[in-house]
Amino acid sequence: MAERATRGQNAGGGNDGPGGRKRNAKPAGKSSRANPQGAKSSSTSKFAKKTIALVYDFDGTLSPRPMQEYAFLPKIGIDPAQFWKESNRVAKEHKADPLITYMHLLYKKAKEAGVRIDREDLVAQGRDVELFPGVLEWFEAIEDYTRIRAESHGISLRHYLISSGLTEIVEGTPIYHHFHNVFASEYWFEAYDLPYPKRVITDTGKTQYLFRINKGVEDLGETINEHMSEAERPIPFSNMIYFGDGETDVPSMAVTRKNGGHAIAVYPPGKSRKKCVDLFNAGRIDFFAPADYRRGSDLFDRTCLLIDRILADIRVEEEMWKVARSAKA
Ligand SMILES: [Mg+2]
Repeated sequence: MAERATRGQNAGGGNDGPGGRKRNAKPAGKSSRANPQGAKSSSTSKFAKKTIALVYDFDGTLSPRPMQEYAFLPKIGIDPAQFWKESNRVAKEHKADPLITYMHLLYKKAKEAGVRIDREDLVAQGRDVELFPGVLEWFEAIEDYTRIRAESHGISLRHYLISSGLTEIVEGTPIYHHFHNVFASEYWFEAYDLPYPKRVITDTGKTQYLFRINKGVEDLGETINEHMSEAERPIPFSNMIYFGDGETDVPSMAVTRKNGGHAIAVYPPGKSRKKCVDLFNAGRIDFFAPADYRRGSDLFDRTCLLIDRILADIRVEEEMWKVARSAKA
């Protein structure tokens, strides 16, 4: 069900930093151009908009804590709360972008501690990242559900990740291969004395990647700003569900829902759900649930409900498309 494009390149559109680094060859489907059914649906003989996209935030959504807290910060001997406090203070003081600031500070601290962390180390750190219960099985379970419920042929389901965290750490996690594409912040290594941010994905910047999924322009070397009519876009927002955990997801949730898509917020099981309640009351999300990804959980069942709705919508749209074609004939 989950289709994967083979890819030789990473999401950055190139796999070599100035230092010439090797990319993990694991093909998780970071296609350069994901457009299996042809974007120009109006000119093809088949209804083309049958791809469903589940789009996830990482920190706080699939994993309880920011991914740097599991290995990077302990390795350089820094208390996470202290680190984020300092990062936020520096960003505020210098009116700097908080994401660039944290990426810079991470390596500045490592250097101060005399700890060298390269790309391979970061990938290895991914193994230490904790995931919420059921995340490991979630991707295939949701694919199974969709396969069983899809009455129309040719439905495919994709999982995407859009994260301000680090691509390299995500790559080392056991769920990496489930993603059709991963859009996350990334470093140039060996470009300068300290690794230098190559791509920084801010809260609002995340929305660019939603449009890339929507338009099928996933090669980051290609511009996203070229006009593309709604009819040409391979994955309409109405076929998307965005999963997030809080304030940093507001722009993505807003873009998704305003364009007819769906959003779900999660909170750590057994902990405060206030952020989710606020998002719900503000009309940012369809549902919220504890971040328990196991089959039969509220999150699982509510996601399945939305998938049922998307599948029904696809059938209606397909029928309308057929009627429109016959009306022209
Ligand atoms: Mg988050």
